[in-house]
Amino acid sequence: MDQPTHSWIAIRAVALLEDTGTEPNLVALLKPHVREASIGAWIPDQADARRGGSRVENHVLKMSPYRGGQPERFVTKKTDLLKHIGPHRLIAGLLDGDRSLDSQWWAAPYKGDVTTRPGQHIPNRAMALSTMLKDLLLLGNKRIDALVSGNVSFVGSLTPEARTQEDAAAVYFFMLSHFVADACMPCHCDSRKLAGYNNGLHMQLEKHWAMQVGTYFEKDHLLKSKPLPRVHDVLGKARNVDGKFSLAFSQTKIPNLIKDHDVWLELIYLCRASFALAGMIASSQSCPYGDDRARAKFKDLQKSRPKFLAEMDQAVMHDAVLNTAIIWKHVWTGVCR
Ligand SMILES: [Zn+2]
Repeated sequence: MDQPTHSWIAIRAVALLEDTGTEPNLVALLKPHVREASIGAWIPDQADARRGGSRVENHVLKMSPYRGGQPERFVTKKTDLLKHIGPHRLIAGLLDGDRSLDSQWWAAPYKGDVTTRPGQHIPNRAMALSTMLKDLLLLGNKRIDALVSGNVSFVGSLTPEARTQEDAAAVYFFMLSHFVADACMPCHCDSRKLAGYNNGLHMQLEKHWAMQVGTYFEKDHLLKSKPLPRVHDVLGKARNVDGKFSLAFSQTKIPNLIKDHDVWLELIYLCRASFALAGMIASSQSCPYGDDRARAKFKDLQKSRPKFLAEMDQAVMHDAVLNTAIIWKHVWTGVCR
């Protein structure tokens, strides 16, 4: 996903928290800074953010058939995956209704491959940042402290500069949204060469989404326009994008993580679902795992399966926003209670 798309997902998630009356104090923290989502939600894809030894594909979880000695560890039955995803995610409906991935496909073991360095794949990055963010919120300045319920007795001993500032906290939340959104992108979760950024499908899909999102959420517009767009208008514009993807968000409170999940496990299953979705886009019969020459053309998808493409667009965008709100809420309530 490109910069404006990531920026829109984060801003839309703030609006969704607000519209559903979920964690008003978290909304109060993030809302004044929504324009900064245009940089914060994009930071993990910036070349400079990859210092410290990480490589280009440092936050993907690209899966392929597993041929090691513990296959039972890496089989996820469809019924189990659906339970671990929950009915509130639209991808669950897509997978549930799908007949193209047969019982053989679901019975096979799949595992994230080793091209990603240990500690760097999407669930690891999201888990690390969300754990750290809880600690950073505990060390928040007086205004953050007033939003977080409960008393943190030791923070008064820190110098004001050592405490987390609101805009810094907001940027960390926006960074977290990037990893969550990437977990919803099928090409980030499929190790086939056809899912590589420069091999057609991946870039074309992202361009196709970017065209619907439009240019309003570009960082130069949100951060450099004179006068700066007002927060109220930015959130309104974000809600207006819903129509482009036929999104109708539930107005009930944002759900919790699935029972017994942490952020890591939640994202492992979301990536596993995205991998299955990649198999629906390009079947393993026509594009076998391990066939490095196989390619799937976005144009073919657009021409021959427009209904599926529209449903996939809707599911990916809906879930990217909802999942962001879910993970943010989890971080926030983890500090507050
Ligand atoms: Zn990314």
